[in-house]
Amino acid sequence: MKKFMVAIGVLLLAFHAHESFSAGTEGFTISEISPEIFARIQGKSYKDNCPIPLEDLRYLRVLHKDINGNTHEGEMICSVHIASDVLEIFRGLYEAGYPVERVRLVDEYDADDETSMRDNNSSCFNFRFITHSTRISKHGLGLAVDINTLYNPYIRVTDKETILEPSTAGEYVDRTKSFPYKIEKGDLCYKLFTERGFEWGGEWKSLKDYQHFEVSDERAKELYPDYR
Ligand SMILES: [Zn+2]
Repeated sequence: MKKFMVAIGVLLLAFHAHESFSAGTEGFTISEISPEIFARIQGKSYKDNCPIPLEDLRYLRVLHKDINGNTHEGEMICSVHIASDVLEIFRGLYEAGYPVERVRLVDEYDADDETSMRDNNSSCFNFRFITHSTRISKHGLGLAVDINTLYNPYIRVTDKETILEPSTAGEYVDRTKSFPYKIEKGDLCYKLFTERGFEWGGEWKSLKDYQHFEVSDERAKELYPDYR
C-alpha cells in the first residue's frame, strides 16, 4: 500500500511538472509559455520573425526585495537552458535581501530596452537579430540577464562620443562612487551568476555593461549553432 501511495505521488509530481513546478520556496516558479503569456509577448519581445521556438523559453515568477526591504513579485522570460539557474539566483538574492528594484516583462515597456532600463527594470528575453546579420543577440536567445539596469549602465567610449544606455544613467558612470542597486565585482549578485558560469559585462575590456550577465559564447554556439 505504501509503495502504491509513493507511486501515485511520483505520478502526480510528474504530471504537475509538465505544466509548471515550484522548486521549494513559495513564490518561485518556472512554467512553459502559456497562451496567456504568449498573448502578452507576441509582436513585442517575441517578434513575428523570431525563429526561437516557444518551447525553448520559460516563464519565471520570482520574489525580490527593494532597497527598503519590501518584497515584490517579479516575472521574467528566459531560455529553458538557464531557467533553473536564474530561478536559484533570484532565490539567493531574495533570501539575502540583495536589492533588486523591478522585475517586469520588457513587454510592459513595449519591448523597448531604453524605457525598461530607465525604469531600473531587470529582464532577460527580448528577441532581435544583431544589426545587419542573421546572428541573434544573447538577449534574443534568452541567454543574458540584465539586473538593476539604471544604476548599472552599458558604457562604450569611442573616439567621438560616449554611448550610454540608458542615456539617463550619467550619475552612475563613475564606479568609484557608492549608490543603491550598484553591482560590484565580488558582491552576491556577481557571485551567484559567475559561479553558474555566467560572464559579467562589468569585466569586459572593450566596453562595460555593468547590468549584464550572459552565458559564454561557446555555450551559446553549442546551443544555437545556426544563430551564433
Ligand atoms: Zn544585457
